[in-house]
Amino acid sequence: MSTLLEDTTVQSTSVPNNLLAGKTGIILGVANKWSIGWAIAQSLANAGMRLAFTYQGERLKENVEKLTATLEGDIPLYPCDVTDETQVDDLFKNLAGDFDGLDCVIHSLAFAKREELAGEFVNTSKEGYLLAQEISAYSLTAVSRAALPLMEKRGGGSIVTLTYYGGEKVVPNYNVMGVAKAALEMSVRYLAEDLGSKNIRVNAISAGPIKTLAASGVSGLSNMLEQMKEKAPLRRNIEAAEVGDTALFLASHLSRGITGEVIHVDAGYHIKGF
Ligand code: NAD
Repeated sequence: MSTLLEDTTVQSTSVPNNLLAGKTGIILGVANKWSIGWAIAQSLANAGMRLAFTYQGERLKENVEKLTATLEGDIPLYPCDVTDETQVDDLFKNLAGDFDGLDCVIHSLAFAKREELAGEFVNTSKEGYLLAQEISAYSLTAVSRAALPLMEKRGGGSIVTLTYYGGEKVVPNYNVMGVAKAALEMSVRYLAEDLGSKNIRVNAISAGPIKTLAASGVSGLSNMLEQMKEKAPLRRNIEAAEVGDTALFLASHLSRGITGEVIHVDAGYHIKGF
């Protein structure tokens, strides 16, 4: 695991430092410094957004505490395992005590059992299928619903989730997670329609493969990274900071006309038919 992650760097970005001044956001899905959620946090914080974070269980609390201590200001942290609906509801009730409304939700989380992310999809268990759907797809709907009152207080906002190409096309070993990402991407569209009249935009970023804890659970990650370098129009892999900056765009007024969209940050890989 550590060797897999050793050469991954998350670069800080240079963007206007007041683009998100006065705005508030919450990030769900930081496990460690390689998490895409953490790269997004850095982009948003650099642009002036006031952030809160969740952690999944006590095991990850210290990691998130240490990381957020490097950001400026008081950063509220809350426990949130999305399989527990009470925790999701409590999260936004507690957040209401710390933030006067919410402009942005970053949903950067997913899970499937390791054994479902190798071999043939036909062998997926019912339990593994439902678990992947619950955590990786349904949670976006539950979180969006719970966040609504706080976002309405600000007259609207932006919800951003993370997806992957394996939700559009068959990618070896991505299996049950591909099916969950397809459900997630469709949820983005239905949520965008429902919440649009409240001026809440819902979009997804489809990121190219990046070495993270979650990605290391997918068998053959190194092959995916090699393929990207060979085939993607930009002939390279992407960095988490590039996803962070796209989330910054989606969180800002610059993207005010965009909702229900899946934006690919994948060096162009998804356009290739050969
Ligand atoms: P990561 O392991 O750093 O983050 C995954 C997060 O999901 C962790 O913080 C974990 O605590 C959280 N999580 C899992 N189960 C949860 C639960 N029950 N309740 C609450 N949180 C839970 O990995 P990452 O690669 O940064 O993943 C973030 C998102 O990006 C995921 O949706 C992933 O599918 C997506 N994504 C990743 C890649 C990639 O190659 N790394 C590519 C495209 C999309």
